[in-house]
Amino acid sequence: MIISIASGKGGTGKTTVAANLAASLDQAVTVLDCDVEEPNLHLFLHPKIHTRENVVAPIPRVDMEKCTLCKRCMEICRFNAIAVAGKTVVTFPELCHSCGGCSAICPEGAVTEMERVLGIVETGTGPVPDMGFAQGLLDVGQVMVPPVIRKVKSHIDTQGITLIDAPPGTSCPVIAAMKDTDFVILVTEPTPFGLNDLKLAVETVRMMDIPHGLIINRAGMGDDAVYAYAKEQHLPVLLEIPFDRKIAEAYSRGDLIISRSNDLKEKFQTLYHDICRLVDAQRCAP
Ligand code: SF4
Ligand code: SF4
Repeated sequence: MIISIASGKGGTGKTTVAANLAASLDQAVTVLDCDVEEPNLHLFLHPKIHTRENVVAPIPRVDMEKCTLCKRCMEICRFNAIAVAGKTVVTFPELCHSCGGCSAICPEGAVTEMERVLGIVETGTGPVPDMGFAQGLLDVGQVMVPPVIRKVKSHIDTQGITLIDAPPGTSCPVIAAMKDTDFVILVTEPTPFGLNDLKLAVETVRMMDIPHGLIINRAGMGDDAVYAYAKEQHLPVLLEIPFDRKIAEAYSRGDLIISRSNDLKEKFQTLYHDICRLVDAQRCAP
């Protein structure tokens, strides 16, 4: 079972949900932080890191001794990452999507490839027995997020439970994180901003045809519009995390909120079983 935890915007508490759900499970779990531009799951789980591996992608290198300035590499590149300028060819590695088109089309064999480091992936173990952990960290200045996410996802445990902390929003990195997962938990808050971004997130998950449900964080603040939307759209509300000073204090200290509330601990413990039932029910729906 692979479960993504996502949200239409940052700061709604998806990392809190991922960390507390992972720590509540009474079976082996692998937790992957795919929010590679700002990974912070480690602040709550305090993993022991055992390995670090570079994530690399090929970029072109041009041998001007062979180049005839024919411009075919420039014409094929949809990303404007290579250009003939005067009597030379310039490349823009930060724009390159590593498709290999320029090296394939060059009639002179002038374009070869070299590696560019996009970021790193760290793996380790979590604070409780049988918890595996991996996180990606995008290098400063890099914009190619999906390859780093895919590398983190290579650590999915196909035989057990994997939780994926997805990036916020609804853009390519989120799609890359949620792709091929069995269920998406959408974390939101009962505010107008929360509702607006929730609608975008629901559209995205439905487009991907992944079973999904809601967790409402900071329940009790804001208004009832998120609940009305959930009812209208037949979105199951899996859990409400109350807007509570003790919870906010635990969060700000990097503590798990289940350590502060037995009630919440029990609710997180039943969450996984509720999700299993929903996956079966939504998959079997006509
Ligand atoms: S590898 Fe692809 S994206 Fe990169 S410069 Fe060549 S054609 Fe453009
Ligand atoms: S396709 Fe090859 S020969 Fe033509 S401009 Fe590009 S590098 Fe030079």
